[in-house]
Amino acid sequence: MSTILFDQIVFGPIHSRRLGSSLGVNLLPMNGKLCSFDCLYCECGFNADGKGDNRLPTLEEFCSALETKLKEIKGKNERIDTITFSGNGEPTIHPNFASIIKETLILRRRHFPLAKVSVLTNGSRIHIPQIREALLSVDNAIIKLDSAFDSTVEQIDRPQYPYSVADMKRNLEPYKGKFVLQTMFLKGVHDGVTIDNTTLKEVAAWRKIAIELEPREIMIYTIDRETPAKNLSKVSVEEMEQIAAPLVSLGFKVTISG
Ligand code: SF4
Repeated sequence: MSTILFDQIVFGPIHSRRLGSSLGVNLLPMNGKLCSFDCLYCECGFNADGKGDNRLPTLEEFCSALETKLKEIKGKNERIDTITFSGNGEPTIHPNFASIIKETLILRRRHFPLAKVSVLTNGSRIHIPQIREALLSVDNAIIKLDSAFDSTVEQIDRPQYPYSVADMKRNLEPYKGKFVLQTMFLKGVHDGVTIDNTTLKEVAAWRKIAIELEPREIMIYTIDRETPAKNLSKVSVEEMEQIAAPLVSLGFKVTISG
């Protein structure tokens, strides 16, 4: 199995399919994965294959790493479009996540005032008041929902806590009009079970919930690199365009990455 673990707190900038020139931030262990989901498609690998490193960077280490990198990029006259929190797992797990976001906004203003701040999250902690305040303070709170059905989320994303789409829907109320809904479309077989969140039933339910959630923007994408679960396959751009078309007609901004 091939996995990609980020071995630095701040990495890049790298070209992101969805965000442009993106300076990545990894608040998770440098040599391990820490996540409240265990997605079949996770580019960091399965949780069980992590290397056991649980040490998280401190607030001070983070600030120093980010400021050093921003100065370095500025010194080279390069530009960044966004500072993106992703890394080796779920960024909101970090106990100082809210303070880290506050410091990031200060450093962004000081060095790259035009760059956006983006957070990719699986949504497991969006209901916690400090996390919510932090996510609502950044430019792009990009929140994952891969299906409108609990059973499909259980299959694809494998949450490591009692999960329900109904809870997610409730927790997303305060984000209406302000967040980016992110959905991975894929097909395949895992442990003898067919995986497919592109069926007519899946897509109809997903469109319905997308409309109800009122995201500011929708990002849909598919597998790009090798996944820890074998036997998963990409969904074509044409299929994703068909999935998105009724939402686009309703005026939603939808970006598709194939
Ligand atoms: S939520 Fe993200 S980091 Fe966590 S398992 Fe899924 S893809 Fe990996």
